[in-house]
Amino acid sequence: MEINAVRGTRDILPDENIKWQYIEHIVRNIFARYGYTEIKTPIFERTELFIRGIGETTDIVEKEMYTFLDRKGRSLTLRPEGTAGAIRAFLEHKMFASSPLTKLFYIGPMFRYERPQAGRYRQHTQIGAEALGSINPFVDAEIITMLINIFEHLGLKNLSVELNTVGCKECRPVYRDKLQEYLAASENELCEDCKNRLTRNPLRILDCKVSSCKEIVKNVPDIADSLCSDCQKHFDSVKKYLDLVEIKYIRNKFLVRGLDYYTKTVFEISYENLGAQNAVAAGGRYDNLIEELGGPSMPGIGFAMGIDRLVIAMDDQKISFPKEEVDVFLAIMGEEVAKYAFNLIHILRKNDIHAEVLYENKSLKNQFSYAGKIGSKFVIIAGENEVLKNIITIKNMETKQQSEVNLEEAIAIIKAQVDRLKV
Ligand code: ATP
Ligand code: MG
Repeated sequence: MEINAVRGTRDILPDENIKWQYIEHIVRNIFARYGYTEIKTPIFERTELFIRGIGETTDIVEKEMYTFLDRKGRSLTLRPEGTAGAIRAFLEHKMFASSPLTKLFYIGPMFRYERPQAGRYRQHTQIGAEALGSINPFVDAEIITMLINIFEHLGLKNLSVELNTVGCKECRPVYRDKLQEYLAASENELCEDCKNRLTRNPLRILDCKVSSCKEIVKNVPDIADSLCSDCQKHFDSVKKYLDLVEIKYIRNKFLVRGLDYYTKTVFEISYENLGAQNAVAAGGRYDNLIEELGGPSMPGIGFAMGIDRLVIAMDDQKISFPKEEVDVFLAIMGEEVAKYAFNLIHILRKNDIHAEVLYENKSLKNQFSYAGKIGSKFVIIAGENEVLKNIITIKNMETKQQSEVNLEEAIAIIKAQVDRLKV
């Protein structure tokens, strides 16, 4: 019986991996410019971390986690998101003690038991960032600006930025009560999930995807009218900073985000053509999370974007990805020159030249046609004649010009043509 990949997981084959690597390359560069450094945390953590960090009433904790007992009976969970683990590490290593502001990024797989469909998998990969230690709205606007900068560098267009605030410990309870009261009047028409949410987490009803719920929330009181002066000021500043650098956004009063830990600013960036799974990145501020996870009282803000969906969006916009180019193909003529050829290709590669070879003994015509297929810029022929005369026969595949040169000259000719970005 053939064994296939598990439902909701998939292989990223080499052609797609080129795109992933390109995205990572661009993103790493931009993170560096903004002072974010990379953290790697374990793929699994104690289940309790996610329950406390993400919140008991969230979709993730209620129904999406891959939780299992290890051999000693401890409950562990494959990470469904990256923030909880990053903050656990931040606290465990007392990173807060050495700097007033810590800026971290991560890249890695996340696991959620969801219904697989286009752009939604049970294992997907996120690139995320967290800025820990500042309450200043400067940081909120900066992190959104950084995301836009990433998308611009990737060449992605037509993205929309949605922005909202979910208040804080002071003003959210006030809004929550107002909302509950308003929605209670329509309790019977809410979907089963939302009936539940009405008492446990009424804000979540605002972004329910069920059409009858959408209808009910249309005219709910706006949280903007319930904000405390601090949250009001904060939200105004974030918007002013974004206006200042001409980043367009839409205020969406229904945007509350699925995770419980958000305070003040929340945002989502989406690409319409992705259909139902149109969010490419999302995030927000979390001013109580670090303390709730046992750390000092310290604010934070972060975002995560999905590489899988980013690739779909970039393909949709026909964005081309730079491909590794083949500099030279070595055509081997006969078994006798194998040792000579082995040594020659070794030297070429030591000189940072991308050299390819076919190991089977094929006709020269055959080998030239393969060199053309892989787009090699040059072909070097390794035949008895070349070994005897100690020369290199090199052909420029574009100009069709063929010449006999020595090894140093051959390397120089090839290198003069190579404009590949060397890393
Ligand atoms: P959605 O509303 O699409 O379920 P979410 O609110 O659960 O997204 P986050 O937890 O904020 O998403 O994750 C950040 C980003 O990771 C999303 O914007 C999306 O691009 C990507 N993402 C989330 N879940 C998946 C998934 N199951 N498959 C692929 N990408 C995902
Ligand atoms: Mg989700």
